[in-house]
Amino acid sequence: MNVNVFAGNPLDRQSTRRADEAWIGEQLRNPNTPVLAMWEGKPFVAEDARIAYLTADRAVAAAGGTDGFLFLGMDGDTPVFAVELASEDSLGEPGRFAELRSVALDLPGPEAGIVATAKSLFDWRRRHRFCAACGAPTRGVDAGWRRLCPACGAEHFPRVDPVVIMLAVSNGRCLLGRNVGWPEGRMSALAGFMEPGETIEAACARELKEEASLVVKRVVYHSTQPWPFPSSLMIGLIAEVEEGPGVPDGVEVEELRWFTREEARTVLEGRHAEVATPGGLGVARQLLASWVEER
Ligand SMILES: [Zn+2]
Repeated sequence: MNVNVFAGNPLDRQSTRRADEAWIGEQLRNPNTPVLAMWEGKPFVAEDARIAYLTADRAVAAAGGTDGFLFLGMDGDTPVFAVELASEDSLGEPGRFAELRSVALDLPGPEAGIVATAKSLFDWRRRHRFCAACGAPTRGVDAGWRRLCPACGAEHFPRVDPVVIMLAVSNGRCLLGRNVGWPEGRMSALAGFMEPGETIEAACARELKEEASLVVKRVVYHSTQPWPFPSSLMIGLIAEVEEGPGVPDGVEVEELRWFTREEARTVLEGRHAEVATPGGLGVARQLLASWVEER
């Protein structure tokens, strides 16, 4: 099993408990209930890059009440919550609010997954304060997992936007691309948002045709990754394509380059003279590593 960064949230979500306001309130009155504090999408972490959970009483005091607390799920018998604070100064506890991109690789995998979940939910809440159907202000229910419009009754649920990200391969070589605007030498697997009405394999074929003028023969699923910037699901694929040089579209992709396994290995290991490895956070690196090791 492939475990990508942000893919390891171990909590039992127990979604049926979200609507039980009495139970939720009871957990938040228990001072031992742990609460992940966030501010502007940044988790509150300790110096050793672990989540610095607040106790519920501290978190409720810092937030000025129990409104807006997000029930993340159960860690064994312990309910775990998150709260987004309006200011970074309200805690008075040792720790710091850290950019998720900069601490994600230092956080233990399960904690990175928990933070990613909370971050996506809070981002969604911030961007859906008004009803998409009628424009009236919405209110959060179900311990943060649903928004209701009191004016027209519409329900709004957290969004996940699927993205296909694929390593195109042909004749023992793989393709990396440099997006328009990326610095010289930075290359990664091609990717794009799925569109309504598409299957995963259709989206993969369309993106490779649009961005690289390549024709897909076969698509193999590799792994998925929740991507909390703000709330995508990266669907990692290996796409076997018909032989051809590939032509960058010049709109999204500026440069394409084929790599043998040995060359790809030097990219991964940071030894390639011209091309830098895809970032360690993303699934692109896992795709490349997996293909390099394939025999
Ligand atoms: Zn409405």
